[in-house]
Amino acid sequence: MYVIKPLKQAEITAPLGVVHMLGDMTRLIGGPVYVWYLEGEKKVLIDAGIEEPVNGLVHNFPVSGGGEKGLRDALNQVNVKPEEIDILILTHLHFDHVANAGLFHNARIYVQKREWESAFNPPPHYRLTYDQKLFQPLENMDICLVDGDAEIGDGLKLVLLPGHTKGLQGVAVETEKGTYLIAGDHFYTYLNLNPPKEPIEIEDVTGNKIQIQPIPLPFAPVGLHVDLSEWYDSSYKALSIARRANILPGHEPSIAGKSFP
Ligand SMILES: [Zn+2]
Repeated sequence: MYVIKPLKQAEITAPLGVVHMLGDMTRLIGGPVYVWYLEGEKKVLIDAGIEEPVNGLVHNFPVSGGGEKGLRDALNQVNVKPEEIDILILTHLHFDHVANAGLFHNARIYVQKREWESAFNPPPHYRLTYDQKLFQPLENMDICLVDGDAEIGDGLKLVLLPGHTKGLQGVAVETEKGTYLIAGDHFYTYLNLNPPKEPIEIEDVTGNKIQIQPIPLPFAPVGLHVDLSEWYDSSYKALSIARRANILPGHEPSIAGKSFP
C-alpha cells in the first residue's frame, strides 16, 4: 500500500495548443512539473524533473525552479534525499521528466524498452523534446528496460500507454482506497481526462481569462502525440486499470501539495 505525493519541482509555461489538440497556440498557460513520491514499503519516485533554466528557458519553454536544487527542495518536503530512493520509474524520456535521473545512484530505474529506443531516434516533430545528454548516462546505472506491462513490486505495476510517446508508461499504485493510476503525460491535465461538457474559463499566465468551448469527446487528446488512435486505445486501457476519479494527470495544477488517497 502506498500514499501518492505529487511534488512540484518546477513551473513550465506552454501554449494551450500543446495541452490539448487544436487549442489556441497564442495563449500561454502555466503548469507544474512534478516528481511523484510514493510513500510505502519502498521509497519510490516517479520521474526526475526538468533542468535548471538558462535565461529563463529550457528547450525554448519558459521555466522557473527546476534543476538539482528544485529536485532536492521537492524531496525535502517528504524528508527524502535522491540517494535514498530505491526505485525510480520514468514515465517517458521527454526533457521535463528525466533531467535529474543521474542523481539516483542507488535506485533501480525503470523505462519502457520502446521508449528507450525511440528516444534515440524520435520522429521529426519530437526531436526537440528528447535530449540525449539527459538519458544516455542512464546506460551506466541500474536501468531496467521493460517490455510492456509489468508488476515490479507489491502494489506497484507499470502500464504501457503508448500514444503521447511510443513507450510512455503509467504506474498503477495500490492504496488504502483502491488502485490509482499515475498517467504521466498520457493526460497532461483534467481537461484531457474529463473534457468540458459546458464552456469553461481558465487563466493564462498573465491572469487573463481563456474561454474553452465544450469538447464532445470521451477524452481530449494532448496536443503532442505520435499516434492518436493508440492514444485513444491507451485512454480506455487507463480506465480498465483505475476509476476515472483515481487517474492522476502529469501536469495538473490543482493537485499540487495534495496526497492520494
Ligand atoms: Zn511533461
